[in-house]
Amino acid sequence: MELDLGDRVVVVTGAARGIGAVIAQRFAAEGARVVACDLEFPPAADGVGGAGTEHSIDRVVCDVADPGSARAAVEEIAGRHGTIDVLVNNAGINVEGTLESLDWERWKACFDVNVGGVFLMSQAVAPVMKRAGRGRILNAASFAAIVPSVGSAAYAASKSAVVQLTRVLASELGPWDITVNAYAPGMVPTAMNGFAEMPAAAQDRLLDTLSLRRWESPDDVANLLIFLASDQAAYITGALLDVSGGKLATQIPAAAYGR
Ligand code: NAD
Repeated sequence: MELDLGDRVVVVTGAARGIGAVIAQRFAAEGARVVACDLEFPPAADGVGGAGTEHSIDRVVCDVADPGSARAAVEEIAGRHGTIDVLVNNAGINVEGTLESLDWERWKACFDVNVGGVFLMSQAVAPVMKRAGRGRILNAASFAAIVPSVGSAAYAASKSAVVQLTRVLASELGPWDITVNAYAPGMVPTAMNGFAEMPAAAQDRLLDTLSLRRWESPDDVANLLIFLASDQAAYITGALLDVSGGKLATQIPAAAYGR
């Protein structure tokens, strides 16, 4: 299958580390012109797009939750690269706390980044994509949008909001051949969740909830996004793509492993 992304300008938010950094590298490996956006980047020689890395990736500092910053970043990128073909709204934060313990400021921060960031970046990019008469917007949701955890009120609600926002934008931008999809990763060990540093018993409890009983890798996510960004996915829009290793499939998948 031909997934030619060679002429595409791809913007990945939250790409200084974690899943976003790998998404950026994988698109660059496909030959795309990639721009990584984040609040800050490690010194130029390190991290995504650094001198030591295999593929050249442009970097733009941007706070996706700030309307002025999001607009300025998109203007800078479109000015530098001529257009924007693909926007991956990967930037997100995890906010934990029960009804009693969750602080209002943290709740708002979670919505500002996870939902507001998707809205603001999409709003800034839409005119650029409309001019081109094509585009792909890919939004990071989570399995938590469907099956939330105790103590995840803000995060889970924000990710559900991303799914609904995705559906509305898919219809509003459809006339310009711009597709908008959300994707739901499962459990990728990153700085956001610290899964890899948990005691073995706690890791086992989490892994027991997966049909494919292993941690997800950022490449598992990137594989889906590369497909969704390609011409092969031209007729997929307004969808939530589950890339969670079966997190949403059955109640007790560990039974299949004899556990
Ligand atoms: P991470 O914390 O490792 O990386 C997130 C990146 O986003 C960081 O580089 C951070 O600086 C950046 N960021 C945060 N706020 C920002 C802002 N206002 N503007 C610009 N950049 C900002 O997280 P991750 O685990 O790589 O997660 C990436 C995305 O995938 C998130 O949206 C997350 O909710 C989603 N997700 C992750 C998992 C998982 O298991 N790791 C599961 C489901 C969904």
